[in-house]
Amino acid sequence: MSWIDEVETPCYVIDEQKLKKNLALLKYVREKAGCKILLAQKAFSCFREYPIIAEYLDGCTASGLFEARLGYEEMAKPFGRENHVFSPAYSEKDFDEILSYCDHIVFNSPAQWAKYRDRVRASKRFIQAGIRVNPEYSEIETDIYNPCFHGSRMGTTITNFIKQQELTDGIDGLHFHTLCEQNSDVLVRTLPHFEEKFGFMFDKIKWVNFGGGHHITRADYDVELLIKTIKDFREKYKLEVYLEPGEAVALNAGYLVTSVLDVTENGVKIAITDASAACHMPDVLEMPYRPNIIGAGEPNEKPFTYRLGGNTCLAGDVIGDYSFDSTLKEGDRLVFEDMAIYSMCKNNTFNGIPLPSIYLLENGKVKLLKKFGYEDFRGRLG
Ligand SMILES: *Cc1c(COP(=O)(O)O)cnc(C)c1O
Repeated sequence: MSWIDEVETPCYVIDEQKLKKNLALLKYVREKAGCKILLAQKAFSCFREYPIIAEYLDGCTASGLFEARLGYEEMAKPFGRENHVFSPAYSEKDFDEILSYCDHIVFNSPAQWAKYRDRVRASKRFIQAGIRVNPEYSEIETDIYNPCFHGSRMGTTITNFIKQQELTDGIDGLHFHTLCEQNSDVLVRTLPHFEEKFGFMFDKIKWVNFGGGHHITRADYDVELLIKTIKDFREKYKLEVYLEPGEAVALNAGYLVTSVLDVTENGVKIAITDASAACHMPDVLEMPYRPNIIGAGEPNEKPFTYRLGGNTCLAGDVIGDYSFDSTLKEGDRLVFEDMAIYSMCKNNTFNGIPLPSIYLLENGKVKLLKKFGYEDFRGRLG
């Protein structure tokens, strides 16, 4: 990987070959299962790759106003693809703009749909509307990623759906999203809960969106079981099926390259890097998880163990403990894997730390897509 020394750190590097490999598998699922697959932009919204993504997928979905605009301008409009949006609640002031970008609008409650129904139906654009439901079944252990935890605001439960049923008139589809980094067996166990509760609606609608969280491009994912499950569902109910994975689109398709700035010691050996968990890989602290580094092992697995920490003043800006074959010194480069997703679209400039540049890796060569500067920091502050 000779390109590692050519980039300026810290930087994200998008591996286009790996992205295309993921996309090819997703296209295979689309074709075999006869379903539609959208990119969930909240995980990966490097729009410079949208021309490629549009060759393989049916479109994209957004979680907010600006993602909806990005999906429209960079994928739906130039490539004739679909543009969907879901929001826990739409605001009056944004809704006309949403209407101008989106083909599918998913509402979180019957009341939200009823509130905006006339505006949707009066729109010049043909728009399909859906309601997100909560099947009250999930196998996610961490509450922050579990849309079905007790008291969750995500989706309408069957009790509330029935209470407000007269407000659901005219909807075109249902949406549920209850998976997170899961295999197709979890979908198989989830579907009966959805069918049992909401099946009475199936002759009134055209499509069902199975949401995201399908880890389709992970090595041990059972793709054939997913295909069979979707085909069976489509044939049984004569409904169109959508999936909207985020992670699976760019899983393992990018890196974060960092340089060691200093090495210190406090009971453990510590290396300070120019990449920060808090600023540049926030999911490491939020999820939390320990990202892999190429060539490094678990603590004490290799001879030299270090705690890696970022260059912010947050005491907890710790990436994790890793072991290496040789000692670390200033200027050494480390490559974190699987950094295309939930990184570029989620980073921040806390502490005035510069944003990492973005490179594209194509045919073994790196190309700089974007370098950020002081204006990107200052511009959001007033
Ligand atoms: C987060 C989310 C997705 C994408 O989830 P991944 O885990 O990245 O696949 C899709 N749809 C909705 C509604 C989401 O909230």
